Amino acid sequence: MKLTPPLGIFGGTFDPIHNGHIFPVIEAAEKTNITKIALMPCYIPSHKDPATASSEDRLKMVKLICGQYPLFYADSRDINRGKPTFSVDSLTEIRQSMPTTPLCFFIGTDSLQNLFTWHNWEKLFSLCHFVVCSRDGETLNAINTYSDALQTLLKKRQVTDPIALHNSLAGYIYLANTQTLTVSSTEIRKQIFNNQSVEKLLPSKILDYIQRHKLYQPHTDFC
Ligand code: ATP
Repeated sequence: MKLTPPLGIFGGTFDPIHNGHIFPVIEAAEKTNITKIALMPCYIPSHKDPATASSEDRLKMVKLICGQYPLFYADSRDINRGKPTFSVDSLTEIRQSMPTTPLCFFIGTDSLQNLFTWHNWEKLFSLCHFVVCSRDGETLNAINTYSDALQTLLKKRQVTDPIALHNSLAGYIYLANTQTLTVSSTEIRKQIFNNQSVEKLLPSKILDYIQRHKLYQPHTDFC
């Protein structure tokens, strides 16, 4: 079967999207020669937390990033479903519509470490590869600190040459060993709530959007 170039998929809550999402993924895309990545915000029930942005706001922020970086486009399928779903559901859907495209799911090392808790995680390896961005200072040396089960999985699935991601549809893990940026959406929400500066943690377009729409502010109107 002749394969088309791989598609990257990067899912997250993106509440809000920040530099730690954007720059490690751009770097990993350069290392793997992946030229298109779908940013896929997940759906969160609107009643979850008053300080959490709506699906609509999170998608709009993702779209602002897509306008700025041609590498990315927004995939709103999870949000459009309007109910919480699993990565395996979205990947199954994408695989059905793209039977000859290698799919590369981008995640951070924290997500890699909890992969075994993901719904139907084993099936994911028949649907996609994983490209892993470093998080919180974790270099490749951190592998020794991973659980035995994860080290065994890596022995079976890890590739060090990203060409493998282009030559088969699914099944490999590539540790991209990207520069780490210590930032999380939780920390950003907390800092905005406490009136602290977050301008170094996210693009100015996103900060601007947050300020214009008064997101993540202390809530006074509980009902
Ligand atoms: P929260 O703090 O709300 O849990 P988050 O900042 O961890 O959010 P998510 O939207 O939950 O962000 O994460 C989506 C994906 O991005 C996950 O695979 C996560 O590992 C990765 N990621 C998030 N922040 C970073 C970062 N600073 N460096 C590398 N990967 C990251």
